[in-house]
Amino acid sequence: MTQERHLEALTHPIFNTLSDCAEALGCEAYVIGGFVRDYLLERGSPKDIDVVVLGSGISLAKKLSEALPNSPEVTVFKNYGTAMLKYQDLVLEFVGARKESYTHDSRNPVVENGSLEDDQNRRDFTINALAIGLNKDNYGVLVDPFNGLDALKNKRIVTPLSPGITFSDDPLRMLRAIRFASQLNFTIDAEALEAITVQRDRISIISKERIVDEINKMMSSPMPILGFELMHKTGLLPLILPELSALEGIEEVEGQKHKDNFWHTLEVVDNISKNTENVWLRWAALLHDIGKAPTKRFDKKIGWTFHGHEFIGSKMVYKLFKRLHMPLNDKMKYVQKMVLMSSRPIVLAEDFVTDAAVRRLVFDAGEHVEDLMTLCEADITTKNPYKKKKYKNNFKIVRQKIEEVEARDHVRNFQPPVSGEEIMNTFGLKPSKEIGVIKEAIKEAILEGEIPNEYEAAYVFMLTKGKQLGLTKNT
Ligand code: ATP
Ligand code: MG
Repeated sequence: MTQERHLEALTHPIFNTLSDCAEALGCEAYVIGGFVRDYLLERGSPKDIDVVVLGSGISLAKKLSEALPNSPEVTVFKNYGTAMLKYQDLVLEFVGARKESYTHDSRNPVVENGSLEDDQNRRDFTINALAIGLNKDNYGVLVDPFNGLDALKNKRIVTPLSPGITFSDDPLRMLRAIRFASQLNFTIDAEALEAITVQRDRISIISKERIVDEINKMMSSPMPILGFELMHKTGLLPLILPELSALEGIEEVEGQKHKDNFWHTLEVVDNISKNTENVWLRWAALLHDIGKAPTKRFDKKIGWTFHGHEFIGSKMVYKLFKRLHMPLNDKMKYVQKMVLMSSRPIVLAEDFVTDAAVRRLVFDAGEHVEDLMTLCEADITTKNPYKKKKYKNNFKIVRQKIEEVEARDHVRNFQPPVSGEEIMNTFGLKPSKEIGVIKEAIKEAILEGEIPNEYEAAYVFMLTKGKQLGLTKNT
């Protein structure tokens, strides 16, 4: 029987070298997992190459290193029996074929040597269990015991073993299933989806870092909404992001309803993902309304209100990031800022747009003003075509004004045109409250458009302000 050989998968010269090394050691080796999947999906040529060896992965890694120019360093993970080396832009990982069994409380399996099929069995999905032979006699031959090729063609996420076992062995796979479904726009098999729903609580044994890793991969995919819908459907969402689940539902009092802020949020994430690949801006879209659950009130006169939800929401961002062990760095601060300012442009756009209001917006948003506009445009989910058009139009005007105001006044990265030191020298002051008062007054005058953002004008303004405060100019 002749078998089709996938030689195009192995065009990189490293595979020939790898093949020679495997032959020299007398062991079987296969490239497996994501590399094979992405090659078959024509998703470009992946840089991560996972190699499974019937024998010692560490030995093959070392052999390969010797065969390569400059013998790249081999990193050995003794506890796992795996090894890694980097060559050019490639990252190669080597593992001995394994058979695993798991205990209930941990993802850490008991590992024994196994056959290729044992190893494929322990992989998460059939599309990730595809292997391509690297030895002389099977070079380029696809080894696909679970019909992963069919799953790829039919865009299905299927587990090699029964899904109950696969997900129970390693609950991270539940999120991986959802992440791949989202990334590849695949459907999770009904039985697998059911198993995730049943076993969702087991996600609690997975580290926050790994959970966030998967969510971030989902977030970077073209349609993150698919992932969040699946997390919602399987009941994983309230276990991971309860702040979002709390937004679900429509309440009605005295005939007045508010919108379902959960589905609204997902729509916003979907909208923004068409306009930006910045994951942190997408995070901001995801979290922009989380303050609405704790601030929701019904007022007989004005109906439903969410007063201060932006401020509360930005505080919640910190807690959420902390809980999920996400870095509390400038990215977190950026998301907080976006959430805090998320209603500003729409308030502007509802009214007549004044220069002063736009100047304040640019001043407060600083370098992130464009991102804020992108967020606010994505936030328009009204189904009322008249309102939609009006908001979009007004945002156009806001954007235009931002450019005009910026070209003229440069308040984006505002630097006071007159320094505190100059104020002190002018009026012969020691460090004191008055300096702050004058500086603030100058800034306000610029933002209000009373004076241009220029030294001369600010200097004259400072003299006037000083006089009002009873100060006299040094001569
Ligand atoms: P990507 O790198 O695009 O995120 P991938 O499928 O390559 O996707 P990796 O985490 O790099 O994912 O893992 C490589 C391979 O290892 C997978 O294709 C799969 O065969 C296997 N694998 C990874 N994580 C698991 C897991 N939790 N359970 C079972 N198999 C896994
Ligand atoms: Mg990979």
